Amino acid sequence: MGHQPLINACEYHRLIYLNAMGVVTLNACPVCKSDALRSFLHIKDYSISQEDFELIECASCGLRMTQNHPDLNTIGPYYVSEDYISHTNTSKGLVNQLYHRVRAYMLGQKQKLVEGCHTSGNLLDIGTGTGYFLSHMKQSDWEVTGLEPDAGARKVAQEQFGLDINDIGKLYHLGDKSFDVITMWHVLEHVHSLNKDMAQISRLIRDEGWLIIAVPNPTSSDAVHYGKYWAGYDVPRHLWHFSPLSMKLLLEKHGFELKSTKGMPFDAFYVSLLSEKYKSSKLGIVTGGLAGLMTNMKAIGNTHQSSSLIYLAKKSL
Ligand SMILES: [Zn+2]
Repeated sequence: MGHQPLINACEYHRLIYLNAMGVVTLNACPVCKSDALRSFLHIKDYSISQEDFELIECASCGLRMTQNHPDLNTIGPYYVSEDYISHTNTSKGLVNQLYHRVRAYMLGQKQKLVEGCHTSGNLLDIGTGTGYFLSHMKQSDWEVTGLEPDAGARKVAQEQFGLDINDIGKLYHLGDKSFDVITMWHVLEHVHSLNKDMAQISRLIRDEGWLIIAVPNPTSSDAVHYGKYWAGYDVPRHLWHFSPLSMKLLLEKHGFELKSTKGMPFDAFYVSLLSEKYKSSKLGIVTGGLAGLMTNMKAIGNTHQSSSLIYLAKKSL
């Protein structure tokens, strides 16, 4: 990683304070700029470092943030694990097996969502991982571009699917209004320079183009049920935990209109099973399965109860 400053727009100087130790301390909400931040929970990084992190919440828009999170230069080691399956293809363990099965089904669901916005054209996927989604869309005659920060994942995408994926820095060098649809599947919660990257995304989308963002939902039924054990927090890899209101405000701030919000039913099971693992539950498969089922039943009447949410937003003119 180069020595690129994390923050260079004036706004960020007021909002974010960088410690010398490679830690980012937040003094204000990056979405609504409120400085009314309150301590919310202390959460352990169960999957990798076992370190504790504080979650803070914006009293105004409900955005939750991982306080004192590692900056771009120091976060690398927190991603190094076989368990971090978005970048690997291991199929060990029941939870991983479930994840891989569901992924095949979800590819079709994601395609339907994208094509419900726009029937064909230019698609940019940010955080492509090993390329399953992008390859699927390419086979469906979309012109595809992918960006992925992890060199190992880019290599797998190349070898497995023949996809030529760029490093994430390319986001700042793609042409204005080049894309009909931009997708970010469980990516925005990892992005360090949230507003800077959102401004680029806004620049890249054609007038009336679509932005599709999937993120964990900290206001969901399973998040409330599991509290500090909720796997959707995944600190410190997840820097931002978006309430539906905070996402709507973030989209509007960057020139988008939120058109609809959809749940991701399979995420409730996956996240509940992982949460049970973090709780060291003896009957995790049963209780996790039930919790996932409960979340999805509640989400039928109210999408905002769903474990993860997909936000579909249209570029305003
Ligand atoms: Zn806020």
